[in-house]
Amino acid sequence: MNLGMLLEMAADGVADRVALGRSADAVTFAEFGLRARRVGALLAAAGGERVGLVDLNSPAVPIALFGAALAGKPFVPLNYRLADDQLLAIARRIAPATVVVGPGVAERLRGVDGLTLIERDEVLRFAADPTAALADGPGGEPDDIAVLLFTSGTTGEPKAAVLRHRNLASYILSTVEFAGAEESEAALISVPPYHIAAVSAALSNTYAGRRVLHLESFDPARWVALARAESVTHAMVVPTMLNRILDALENGAVDGLPALRSLSYGGGPMPSTVIERAMRLLPSVGFVNAYGLTETSSTVAVLGPDDHREAFASSDPAVRARLGSVGRPLPGLDVSVRDPLGEPLPAGERGEIWVRGEQVSGEYLAGTATDADGWFPTRDAGMLDDDGFLYVYGRLDDVIVRGGENLSPGEIEAALLSHPDVAEAAVFGVPDTDWGEKVVAAVVLAEGASVTDRADVERDLREHVRARLRSTCTPEHVQVRPQLPYTETGKLLRRVLRAEVAATLSPTVGV
Ligand code: ATP
Repeated sequence: MNLGMLLEMAADGVADRVALGRSADAVTFAEFGLRARRVGALLAAAGGERVGLVDLNSPAVPIALFGAALAGKPFVPLNYRLADDQLLAIARRIAPATVVVGPGVAERLRGVDGLTLIERDEVLRFAADPTAALADGPGGEPDDIAVLLFTSGTTGEPKAAVLRHRNLASYILSTVEFAGAEESEAALISVPPYHIAAVSAALSNTYAGRRVLHLESFDPARWVALARAESVTHAMVVPTMLNRILDALENGAVDGLPALRSLSYGGGPMPSTVIERAMRLLPSVGFVNAYGLTETSSTVAVLGPDDHREAFASSDPAVRARLGSVGRPLPGLDVSVRDPLGEPLPAGERGEIWVRGEQVSGEYLAGTATDADGWFPTRDAGMLDDDGFLYVYGRLDDVIVRGGENLSPGEIEAALLSHPDVAEAAVFGVPDTDWGEKVVAAVVLAEGASVTDRADVERDLREHVRARLRSTCTPEHVQVRPQLPYTETGKLLRRVLRAEVAATLSPTVGV
């Protein structure tokens, strides 16, 4: 299966339905199919082995994605907001390529050999030109590379993850019902195009026959306004976006989002205070926590709407705790939790999450990370409970090793966030001569926090953690900050923060 076939099926099966755009400038699935085939012909004839994209969200993104698939070339969306030197370094890695560029990008890429640049508006004009030639059919084989995605590099240098047609197609075919959406459904895409969630949303909504709307880049007030104006029924956000949407809903004079039926979130840990607030403010919405990685073609486990409602309504702490889980692995995927030697651990024990399945690539341009049996070690710490619910405790690379004991920053952050005065929390280890590493926290206080004096806050929060977790988890320092650093997709830049905070703690400590 080539990804181009997903669109061809929709263009035939639900030809007259609206596929892309706002009500005023909507495009049907039949027309979407034609536009992708025109751009496919353009890209097949253009230079280079790959199709890059450096732009914000727009209908040009799915057209270029499917066009590249039809042209048989890997699609490589890059982060528009990278600093110039980072963008140039990545652009050199993808050359020779044709790159679709948004406004102002061409000047930034000048000087990179082997790139043919096409302005996004030119691609859109070409796509809509009825006289343009059409690509004749799916260009790529199932084993060909469909998409190359650079991870955000929160734990090291960005890695170029390789996703083949068969990985992405198998994820879509096993999780989405063909043309299963109702005609009135509309999905809002606000995650940036270079993120796996944007790629999988483009594929799954097309195959489901669901209209897609694009928000150029995320802004909570514009997100709420567009969702209301276009009666959006489905959306996907990262946790930081959800919190800001809830603020916009509470502060603005809007009464909720009556059309919204399904809101998925993922890409990082969701604080329980935020999801509980969301469930209170949007009681008719079905929430879905989706856990996945770029290397697994997105989602590998989900906590669905019924599990959310059951956990939210329960007074049983064990059931309530499921709101902090990522639900159960998708059918057809194997998930196991293993010790550092790769041996599977029994239910209830913590270790590294490993995944196996057709959608799992586990492959980078630099080589593969899967073992001989196809198992991919995610580098995430986790636990499967007796009922098969998966809990994710964050990246193994972020684990704090204090006196030989492994401490999970995620668990300590969750304890800090359960304090009403804490809006955001980040926990990390800094080098320590006695213990190897010591636990340090940085927090952003909630608006109207009852305690604001630094020494009182520190004492209060340390007590709060001590009362909830074993004593070794108590942060030795708690620093109050006006904000924490995140990537555009809501990932905490823990390394940046750790370096900044460590420098203020002791000028002699190196990180
Ligand atoms: P890098 O690997 O370079 O640090 P990255 O973190 O952006 O980049 P992604 O593939 O985008 O890589 O992110 C996947 C990670 O996000 C997972 O390994 C996990 O740590 C975290 N994550 C994703 N979904 C969830 C979720 N629902 N709950 C908790 N954590 C999640």
